[in-house]
Amino acid sequence: MGQVRVVEASVHRFRFELDKPFRIAIGFTKVKEEIVVRLVDNAGNIGWGEASPSPIILGSTPDTVLAALDVLIPTILGEDPRRLHYLVDRMDRVLLDHAPAKAALDMALHDLVGQVTGEPVWRLLGGSRAEPVDTDFTVGIDTPEIMAAEAEALVAAGFRTIKVKVGEAPRLDLDRVRRIRDAVGDNVALRIDANQGWTRAEAVWALVRMADYAIQFVEQPVAAEDIEGLAWVRQRSPIPVMADEAVHSVADALRVVQAEAADYVNIKLMKAGGLRRAVEIATICAAAGVPNMIGGMVESNLSATAAVHFALAEGNVVFRDLDIGERPETQLVAEGGSYIEAGQQLLADRDSPGFGFRRIREEWLVPVKTYRFGEGGEREGSIAA
Ligand code: MN
Repeated sequence: MGQVRVVEASVHRFRFELDKPFRIAIGFTKVKEEIVVRLVDNAGNIGWGEASPSPIILGSTPDTVLAALDVLIPTILGEDPRRLHYLVDRMDRVLLDHAPAKAALDMALHDLVGQVTGEPVWRLLGGSRAEPVDTDFTVGIDTPEIMAAEAEALVAAGFRTIKVKVGEAPRLDLDRVRRIRDAVGDNVALRIDANQGWTRAEAVWALVRMADYAIQFVEQPVAAEDIEGLAWVRQRSPIPVMADEAVHSVADALRVVQAEAADYVNIKLMKAGGLRRAVEIATICAAAGVPNMIGGMVESNLSATAAVHFALAEGNVVFRDLDIGERPETQLVAEGGSYIEAGQQLLADRDSPGFGFRRIREEWLVPVKTYRFGEGGEREGSIAA
């Protein structure tokens, strides 16, 4: 296939508004703005990626993602996208943190390598097959009555696992869990996510009582930085504990498993900085005997598709929280990619190259900036070579 070079990178804003705000213990989302990256190589192949900023979870806004991309894109331009590991390491060497921006570029590079090689990303990552995978669906914080009604509707729509947002007040949270279990019956799996909302003592108080309702696991009962607290709760909880906000990076994963602070770790591409780092986190967790979940932020179905490819390839991922990109207003991918049907995430075409996007709704994108690799090797855009 000869020389392959990334010759153009363009960045775009993509704004959408949810019909119902999504509420968790530490805040809510109504309007969301994603940053979408499009890479082009010298043969005209295109690779797509998405950054999903979150001020409270990821410390990022759309503007910080754009500023980070301004530093990162010059390290990608002119390079062979097949040097994935090298390029991802290089991004970490020129800029600390800013995982969502790195995730967008890592994703776009994977999609591009898929186009260059003709392989789907799940196979590039070493996956053995691409069967549909079950996913949960999340019920956001609301009154116990409304949450129970929403859970019932999800079961009617085919979901066999419901994730319940809690972490507001232990007594009210217990009522939420009780009413939802009553509404959905015993044949539906329930998992809960406190999003750092409880103190250590509140967590143990609630979890001991919630054990009556057959809860699969609890995500992030206490503050993200409180690794000792996570371990403390885990020792006293009858319900297994999953680390989410406590594990962003590969180093975080190592710290949490060494502290024996979690039974499970939730991986998200936006926390990890993309597929490459997600694989590394899964490897550390697998070595420690800690299975993973793959989850996401409030994202479009573009980055949701990347998460599905990761789920298909990574054997240590045993739980899927991939209720991402299912709302019409988040469906930036018009044809191809992944989609949800009857509680499962499926690829539209398991053998199409890269992430398998056939049509992106480019009319929804607001162009911000285009960077080009020039004939003489000089870099255009705001950052000099
Ligand atoms: Mn979570």
